[in-house]
Amino acid sequence: MKIKKFEKKLWLASPTMHGEEQMFVKEAFDTNWVSTLGENINQLEKSICEYIGCKYAVGLSAGTASLHLAVKMAGVKPGDKVFCSDLTFAATVNPVTYEKAIPVFIDSEYETWNMDPVALKRAFEKYPEVKVVVVSYLYGTPAKIDEILAICNEYNAVLIEDAAESLGATYKGKQTGNFGSFNAISFNGNKIITCSSGGMFLTNDEKAANEVRKLSTQAREIAPWYQHEEIGYNYRMSNIVAGIGRGQILHLDEHIASKKRIYDRYKESLSDLPITMNPFMDCTEPNFWLSCMTVNEDSMCYQKRDNCNASFNTEAGKSCPTEILEKLAEYNAEGRPIWKPMHMQPIYKGCDFISSDEGVDVGADIFERGICLPSDIKMTDEQQDIVIEIIKSCF
Ligand SMILES: *Cc1c(COP(=O)(O)O)cnc(C)c1O
Repeated sequence: MKIKKFEKKLWLASPTMHGEEQMFVKEAFDTNWVSTLGENINQLEKSICEYIGCKYAVGLSAGTASLHLAVKMAGVKPGDKVFCSDLTFAATVNPVTYEKAIPVFIDSEYETWNMDPVALKRAFEKYPEVKVVVVSYLYGTPAKIDEILAICNEYNAVLIEDAAESLGATYKGKQTGNFGSFNAISFNGNKIITCSSGGMFLTNDEKAANEVRKLSTQAREIAPWYQHEEIGYNYRMSNIVAGIGRGQILHLDEHIASKKRIYDRYKESLSDLPITMNPFMDCTEPNFWLSCMTVNEDSMCYQKRDNCNASFNTEAGKSCPTEILEKLAEYNAEGRPIWKPMHMQPIYKGCDFISSDEGVDVGADIFERGICLPSDIKMTDEQQDIVIEIIKSCF
């Protein structure tokens, strides 16, 4: 194989701007709405409500801030246990810890890589007092939402959706971020659309939306002076940031179509290899934010990972995430291991982890065998074909 290194780095997922973003930012400058108030925020909140189909959206400084206030709105108190997705980014879970509550990690299933309803049910049998569940939709793929909601209803628990990675994905035709009571999306730089940073709190509950607006601006009471009766935060979105989002949301569907095309091309071209693409259910339409794959179990070469390092042995016909990632990096393309499960993270050592059965650990298995592939929508077909050749050369 004679492949030339990419001259410009091929990213996992980087911002894709179109031009309108600058126009809305300029408008904010021209009218001097350069703060956390203004038309860009109002219009972006309105567009997101219309797109998702929810009643209220509150623009905040980050997806993490949105999740933090969602956890507060769900009534989580210090010492409470909260059921959380295990195979996810730490931002799903950290807000639970900000409130001095205790996460209990729920294992994934193999059909979507998300929270396993069977494991969730077992968790409620062990801790029937739990009142809040935080589910994330990994890489833009919806979970088994009906099953998860049915269990939440059975145990009178509130569902929080972390839809940070799944903006635009649907489950039975309905947008993610519109199933839970208090939900979050993110506009971080690597997400399907970005405001450079930022996020939104989503709900159909008017009281909660108003409370989040108040808490995100230092919890000021209506009074002639700064009057405070609860602890607030400086979490509001900036009108400049929102201007970028107003330009981006015009292109959300186009971004999803490009991501899907990338996923389909990987799936087709890698079909001869002993690998499996990240799966999804027929009743869902993911946003295909990241294309991922796992190396089939019997085609894994020897791979060893300790806390911060990895090594492997080359074997003909076999490979592993470490080998593929090293090879991609050699050619200046960015891949990434599957997010390391929360129950394997040193910060969450000692938290309970519940799977579908004793000894089962789906999350650890997907982490061991899985990688995220370059999924940037500015990647050309020719560049993607080279990535595909690089992956093939590892086996
Ligand atoms: C990106 C992300 C977040 C956090 O969003 P920020 O806007 O970066 O704070 C939360 N959860 C998941 C699953 C994410 O991928």
